[in-house]
Amino acid sequence: MPKIREMYQAVVNRDSSYEGIFYLGVKTTGVFCKPGCRARIPKLENIEFFSSTKSAFAKGYRPCKVCKPENLNGTTPPWINRLNLEIENDRSKKWSDEELKLIGIDPSGVRRWFKKKYDMTFHNYIRKIRLSNAITEMKNGETMTQAAFAQGYESLSGFIDAMKSFTGKTPTESKNVKFLSVDKINTQLGPMIACAMDDGIYLLEFEDRRMLKTQMKRIIRGNKVVPVLSKHKYIKQIEEELQLYFEGKLSEFKTPFKMTGTEFQKSVWNQLLKIPFGETICYEELAARIGNPTAQRAVANANGFNSIGIVIPCHRVIGKDGNLRGYGGKVWRKKKLLDLESANNNAD
Ligand SMILES: [Zn+2]
Repeated sequence: MPKIREMYQAVVNRDSSYEGIFYLGVKTTGVFCKPGCRARIPKLENIEFFSSTKSAFAKGYRPCKVCKPENLNGTTPPWINRLNLEIENDRSKKWSDEELKLIGIDPSGVRRWFKKKYDMTFHNYIRKIRLSNAITEMKNGETMTQAAFAQGYESLSGFIDAMKSFTGKTPTESKNVKFLSVDKINTQLGPMIACAMDDGIYLLEFEDRRMLKTQMKRIIRGNKVVPVLSKHKYIKQIEEELQLYFEGKLSEFKTPFKMTGTEFQKSVWNQLLKIPFGETICYEELAARIGNPTAQRAVANANGFNSIGIVIPCHRVIGKDGNLRGYGGKVWRKKKLLDLESANNNAD
């Protein structure tokens, strides 16, 4: 866990980038929260810090009703799993609030969860799942009509319009669309967004990174792909590797990845890959290593445009004076990554 002072600062700032990293139990109320909770900020002497919901429960704390800390920790609430099964079983069903209530699921909870997890409405999520299913069916030889009706579209024109707004193409043309799998993964330093295709990881970024949307657009346009929510095998693989990395048991990632960028950017990122685990270099040195010692600013810029965080170790570049300087994933994380790597430098 971070230092007490750092955690309390996060509580005071309601900094949700610390979500999943620690929990705070409030002694006066017996309730525990995640950082970022909108409830009243307790005094430091009334707080007990925990690294997991499990340890907070073990000490007898109840989860806060405002911030629902028990839903974190990478676990999907059971009712979401149930809902996903229902969606899968009846692909043509219209999910009105009444339908949700009939199966015992609270519609406002559904809206909140999809907004938080995918930043989209529940209905938009269903629409996208159906359209990507329809494309898969057409790729497998179904006709457009069969695919449309199997996914619950009542008219072909409705299907064609929906497909055009999803992929920018007609259903027939959409058969050639390439999909970029997108999903959220949990790490010890908070949630990350991962994107992958069959040739590797295209993006890996902390969810609260300011550049995330810009980076997503760059990857989508640069590779002419349509994003779909799904857990690609490489997303699973990188999630497992990150877990080991944070436990200090892995220093080299094996999951394949693909860089999207200019030749110059790629030359910078390839140099980053040569900085050994546990070591750091300064921006001046990085510029010198790509054979362009005066291009420090451009090099720093390319460093910031890295879209495959941790795996391409842009965090290993620091100021000449030892100052960490900036990091898209926030400086406190850069410090954690470097501390972790120097602590485990001789482990394997
Ligand atoms: Zn709370």
